[in-house]
Amino acid sequence: MRAPSLDVLVVGAGPPGIATALALHARGLRVVIAERRVRGTRGTPGETLPGRVRSALDALGIADVLDDWSCTPIRSHRARWGPALRERHLAHDPDGHAWQVDRDGFDELLRLRAVERGIDVRLGMRCTSVVPETGGWRIALDQERGRSSLRAAFVVDATGRSAFVARRLGARHERCDRTVAVIAGILGPAAARCGSTLVEVCPDGWWYAAALPSDDIAVNFVTDAALVPVGASARTGALFDQLCNAPLIERYLAGCGSPAWLRVVSAAPAVTSPVAGAGWLATGDASSVHDPLAFSGVTKALEQGLSSAAAIAAWFGGDPLALDRYRAAAEDDFAAHLQARRACYAAAGLSRFPFWRQRAASSAPSLARTSAPWWPMTITGPHRAVPDPAHDAPAAASAAHVPA
Ligand SMILES: Cc1cc2nc3c(=O)[nH]c(=O)nc-3n(C[C@H](O)[C@H](O)[C@H](O)COP(=O)(O)OP(=O)(O)OC[C@H]3O[C@@H](n4cnc5c(N)ncnc54)[C@H](O)[C@@H]3O)c2cc1C
Repeated sequence: MRAPSLDVLVVGAGPPGIATALALHARGLRVVIAERRVRGTRGTPGETLPGRVRSALDALGIADVLDDWSCTPIRSHRARWGPALRERHLAHDPDGHAWQVDRDGFDELLRLRAVERGIDVRLGMRCTSVVPETGGWRIALDQERGRSSLRAAFVVDATGRSAFVARRLGARHERCDRTVAVIAGILGPAAARCGSTLVEVCPDGWWYAAALPSDDIAVNFVTDAALVPVGASARTGALFDQLCNAPLIERYLAGCGSPAWLRVVSAAPAVTSPVAGAGWLATGDASSVHDPLAFSGVTKALEQGLSSAAAIAAWFGGDPLALDRYRAAAEDDFAAHLQARRACYAAAGLSRFPFWRQRAASSAPSLARTSAPWWPMTITGPHRAVPDPAHDAPAAASAAHVPA
């Protein structure tokens, strides 16, 4: 049997897939990326990246993607996470200001950089099976014009929440609960809200709103799946009913149009176990999914891409424990994430409501002060309390964004 012609096949061309491939390519390994979509990742529009994303992109040599017009600076965060509205200005943040990105566009930029480096990025190819064979794996790829296969010594699962490869290889991908996000694209004008984000809690969940470079506004309502009705119009109605409990978000949307689109996605933390085995590993959301409240998914994915590549290179170099160390680090990261998440949900002070009680269960209040990675929540960092317009004045008329 011939040795595989490829060192590594990366399945999935989101941030962790591209980061892993770039870092492996820089180490001289032969890498191919297979991605089922022809464009974008159907990510959530209006994702916010903390300032530290620049370090991860720098380490990959592609920090210039942040210069693209579609990546806009976020200079302050406002959040009502508990009784007071607080604002955090990022001008003097050690990591610099944050960024607002349109995920599809951002992922396109990353892919372009990979192609420019000479990496073979194959779009429109869906991985449908991964079978072990001498010296590695045979991976079947479906495309519009039929099926092909590739042989690789190592396979990387960067398929996001589906953890397709890991599950094929016997791993389990488990969600912690039934948290979902109802995400909506609301027609602007967004210009007046540019440069800042807003988070607000309410009894059944929490809201997040941000202005997009396209002049639309992305709104996420994070709640429990049991509270989301079936059917598009019922969902839209329920979303706007919930707005009554979020006066700041309601004000933020004053003067905007109806939702151009709305969809419901899982937003529950989840973990794959095991996250690596002989000749394979999972990275990004395929490894573990952080709560969207952390605003860390993309940055974690890029950082994990770098550590995935280091582990794979060490494995090729004959280090038998490289993948065990990778697995242990991923497990520690997720355990720390869950602990911080519980503390953060407890800090909202809404545990009398089932949504919050379930997510804050067994949290230690002291953690609320030590959960530094939690960003941009108000419990850490140099936030200051600001006047709360929702309490100081009645909400502006919101008839303009009542669904048609
Ligand atoms: C509501 C919500 C809001 C969020 N907000 C933020 C935020 O503000 N900031 C932030 O940093 N993160 C945020 N996140 C998290 C962030 O979206 C994810 O962490 C990130 O998308 C993970 O990237 P990924 O590449 O691992 O997975 P994905 O983005 O899911 O990409 C996986 C890729 O693999 C491909 N693929 C899947 N299966 C196959 C297959 N069989 N063959 C070939 N290709 C395949 C897919 O097409 C896709 O391109 C949010 C998440 C949610 C749910």
